Amino acid sequence: AEVELVRAQRFESLAMLAGGLSHDLRNLLQPLLLAGDSLQDYQDDPRLARLGKLVRDCGKRGLDMVHSMLSFARGARRAEQVRLGALFSAFGLLMQGSIPRTVTMELAIDDPELSFEGNHTELQQCLLNLCLNAIQAMPDGGHLRIETSQMDLPENFFLDEEQSRLGRYLRISVVDSGLGMDEKVLEHLFEPFFTTKEAGTGLGLLSCKRIVGSHGGVMRVDSVPGRGTRFDLYFPLEGQVSDEQMEMLDNLEGSAE
Ligand code: ADP
Repeated sequence: AEVELVRAQRFESLAMLAGGLSHDLRNLLQPLLLAGDSLQDYQDDPRLARLGKLVRDCGKRGLDMVHSMLSFARGARRAEQVRLGALFSAFGLLMQGSIPRTVTMELAIDDPELSFEGNHTELQQCLLNLCLNAIQAMPDGGHLRIETSQMDLPENFFLDEEQSRLGRYLRISVVDSGLGMDEKVLEHLFEPFFTTKEAGTGLGLLSCKRIVGSHGGVMRVDSVPGRGTRFDLYFPLEGQVSDEQMEMLDNLEGSAE
């Protein structure tokens, strides 16, 4: 299982890079393509028109590459039925060696038989990141609690988010009694390479966010300095492709024609 996790972690970084790069490249290429298009129609100077065609063709090739890069970042993910009980018993085993004696860990799984569509390895990866962060935030020991519950989210829950689907959600919470975070840390939490640790990468939470997002879910954080931190992950239990993902796909397919 650990080999698979390492592999997943590598893939995760690659997918994150590919996703970010595709986005930036697309923003660069689209105006280029448009410029080439208008030059190509330039009647008075055939040389300019030829250059326009060149710009256009290269831009188009670039966009096609971006397209396949994005489908790589998205599509290589293997969807399967994840059973909550199986997810957490495997996760418990994985964590065993990493919990210091001063930290107590508690798993409160409301419904081990619950199954939902997702990727077992990615979810493990995400939970691992959150739990290792939690443990590192409890240098003098403390309590780590992971709990699951199911709920209907209120209509205004996603108001400031890409997503707006109503329906039933699975919530996985990772709660620690550690150092907590102040406003300044909270503000930068999900930025790439943001870390307060000497040997941190600042990629852990970004990767979690991507994984939760690719499951059509969202992530919330609540933290009190000196008291502890709570991460809530919300996964839709019905219709799991996010509106934003669909829109991205549509845009891309439209512009690559
Ligand atoms: P890294 O762990 O490599 O620093 P992350 O993206 O996982 O990268 O985390 C970024 C920062 O967020 C951490 O350096 C830390 O300051 C803060 N952080 C994350 N989780 C917690 C937590 N449970 N308690 C306190 N601070 C946290």
